[in-house]
Amino acid sequence: MKTVQNFNFKDQKAIIRVDFNVPLDENFNVTDATRIEAAKPTIDKILADGGSVILMSHLGRPKGKEDQYSLRHIVAKTSEILGVNVIFANDCRGDVAQQAAENLKPGQVLLLENLRFYKEEEAGDENFAKELASLGDIYVNDAFGTAHRAHASTTIIAQFFPNHKCFGILLAKEIESLNRVLNNSVKPVTAVLGGSKVSSKITVIENILDKVDHMIIGGGMTFTFIKALGGKIGNSICEDDKQELALEILHLAKQKNVQIHIPVDVVAADAFANNANTQVVDVREIPAGWQGLDAGPKSLENFKEVIMKSKTILWNGPLGVFEMETFAKGTIELGKDIAEATANGAFSLVGGGDSVAAVKQFGLEDQMSYVSTGGGAMLEMLEGKTLPGIAAILN
Ligand code: AMP
Repeated sequence: MKTVQNFNFKDQKAIIRVDFNVPLDENFNVTDATRIEAAKPTIDKILADGGSVILMSHLGRPKGKEDQYSLRHIVAKTSEILGVNVIFANDCRGDVAQQAAENLKPGQVLLLENLRFYKEEEAGDENFAKELASLGDIYVNDAFGTAHRAHASTTIIAQFFPNHKCFGILLAKEIESLNRVLNNSVKPVTAVLGGSKVSSKITVIENILDKVDHMIIGGGMTFTFIKALGGKIGNSICEDDKQELALEILHLAKQKNVQIHIPVDVVAADAFANNANTQVVDVREIPAGWQGLDAGPKSLENFKEVIMKSKTILWNGPLGVFEMETFAKGTIELGKDIAEATANGAFSLVGGGDSVAAVKQFGLEDQMSYVSTGGGAMLEMLEGKTLPGIAAILN
């Protein structure tokens, strides 16, 4: 796997696909700069070598050139984080971009305007990719969040750099972390899968049954399994048409010697609301009119036992409706258990959307071995798919 560490960038112009799709407030201030900070190590390495950097990214989902999606809004923040005055080209192609790239001196950083101002980006247009490619000497992909898309700047562009393409430090770390969980893992390996629906996680579950020793299934998915097993789930969320699939998963797990752990008790509520009345009940005996919205204390104890003996832990999806304080306890406790196991030497990877949000919200981010930056991309890797953006560099 070639990374920026394998190249000397002296007097080279690196064109880097980054993911600077950051949230902005109504005054166009960056409200969370995590993604910009995440790209800094790659940029620093290239500048330290004596190279220059051309940054390209998308921002939001513009329909054509809409100023609210202009990357000029993030120039000041990017300059502050990188400690360099970032030059901005108000187009990512044509004379403006060509001139700006030509004028670029070693040590300088150029940010191109939003790639998605052109529909050719998402269409994976070859000519557009060629134009982008003409701006730089070496192509670096450091955008995990878009690695599952075959867009011009994430995938198609790579063919124009047969020997001069590589992964950035961030993307390499994402790949390595996932490898540490799925391929080179230290046993016992435990996957915690939560979230709302079985249907959105089914391919992930099927793929990782071959890789793990334990699987904790929590969140809203629980109730499809419990109902399939004959339990009473009251008003809890359930996908009736996935009950057979749930039983099949349990059967497959048995065949593959994977131990499945499902909540035995839940915090049930009489409404989907933070101020609802609650009671802890047996997961198979949820009264009519009540719904399970978090894992109960006995379940959390069971899960803790599994987590503490695990050497590799993958966490995707919350154990309850953590957005409401009343139902956040299970997710917080699980997060703390994983943090403790990590402190004791386990490798923990948190990835895929809501569990990342939960870990950040509860201040546990620094206590995990790795927190992924790409929701959809991480899920697709967990599903066992080869991401086009990654394949394009490896080929
Ligand atoms: P996902 O995007 O599939 O990972 O699902 C995340 C969402 O699942 C979060 O917004 C949680 O609030 C929700 N969730 C977790 N547990 C439950 C539950 N018991 N009932 C309903 N929704 C849940």
